[in-house]
Amino acid sequence: MTPKVAQFLNDVAPATPCLVLDLDRVEENFRRLQAAMPLARIYYAVKANPAAPILTRLVGLGSFFDAASFEEVEACLAAGARPEAISYGNTIKKESAIRAAYARGVRMFAFDSEQELRKLARSAPGAKVYCRILVGNDGAEWPLSRKFGCEAEMAKELMLLAGELGLDPFGLSFHVGSQQTRTAAYEAAIARVAMLFTDLREAGLNLRMVNLGGGYPVRYRQEVPEIDEIGAAIMGALAEHFGNALPEIVVEPGRFIVGDAGVLSTEVVLVSRKAKDDPVRWVYLDIGRFGGLAETEGEAIKYAFATPHDGTPEGPVTIAGPTCDSTDTLYEKANYRLPLALDAGDRVTLLATGAYVTTYASQGFNGFRPLAEHYL
Ligand SMILES: *Cc1c(COP(=O)(O)O)cnc(C)c1O
Repeated sequence: MTPKVAQFLNDVAPATPCLVLDLDRVEENFRRLQAAMPLARIYYAVKANPAAPILTRLVGLGSFFDAASFEEVEACLAAGARPEAISYGNTIKKESAIRAAYARGVRMFAFDSEQELRKLARSAPGAKVYCRILVGNDGAEWPLSRKFGCEAEMAKELMLLAGELGLDPFGLSFHVGSQQTRTAAYEAAIARVAMLFTDLREAGLNLRMVNLGGGYPVRYRQEVPEIDEIGAAIMGALAEHFGNALPEIVVEPGRFIVGDAGVLSTEVVLVSRKAKDDPVRWVYLDIGRFGGLAETEGEAIKYAFATPHDGTPEGPVTIAGPTCDSTDTLYEKANYRLPLALDAGDRVTLLATGAYVTTYASQGFNGFRPLAEHYL
């Protein structure tokens, strides 16, 4: 938690649940990533947190943007981004959304199938297009599995087709899965992309861009590799496989830029046990799966907690949200322990929750309002 956030929580004690996020930390993270990968152009993955103050700060820093929908394209433009600085990176787009983005000046689009490519040829003629390939997601705590990307052989054919359809066959992309904790995932994916570059050059097509996607991790309960280490591994792999003929490098960080800039302030609603001698206490917070903590699904992302009783004796807990739905249980198996002194009414802070929380909140499930947001 940054000093600015801590002071706000202390001085203002805002109504819970709420996200409090330090925009200076967003800027620091942007600069740290840029320093770790100086040759890469940063396209912020807007879906991680599309709040206007974040987009505005990033526009001021010269960031580019990866939009998942036409609505996100509009949010970037409203924040002052130039259309040339926006990539429409979702491989699944309605043709009407492609047309709308193109009309607003967006000229860079992702695809991973022939049908999507034909939509682009019709509705975004001449645009730069890049094909997303399937790569391993091992080591990612929030994997993206097989939903996106296509096999390399298909990517090769589609890039050739892109040129025939009057599009600009710009490059290739991959995504190693979010909260990726192993540099090997990037290294393997870069090797694969480089092979495709060679194959396509032999077929008469010179690609100009590699998009390394996102995945750069944030510290939750566990240590993660430093961004400098990840950057060095990535730049090393690029040098090894591309030599001096380095293409334009794009990265699409979401979590890394905003994750540790924000915290959730919550209140303990109830502490109870299922039997008198049960060692495990159930701790119910005023936020849960439907309040925005979607990434606790399968206990995938394990947030760190801070309480007013930290440093006093702890015991095992199951942590759950406030709604009348049993899937609204956050952590039952991940061995969480919280202070025995924890009581209803205590404020509990969930650390590093600036990414993938606000927009995941339901529209009032059980009557609870989506969480409030404070940008400092
Ligand atoms: C979600 C997403 C990102 C951002 O991923 P992070 O793990 O948050 O860095 C980047 N690129 C694409 C295509 C995505 O879908």
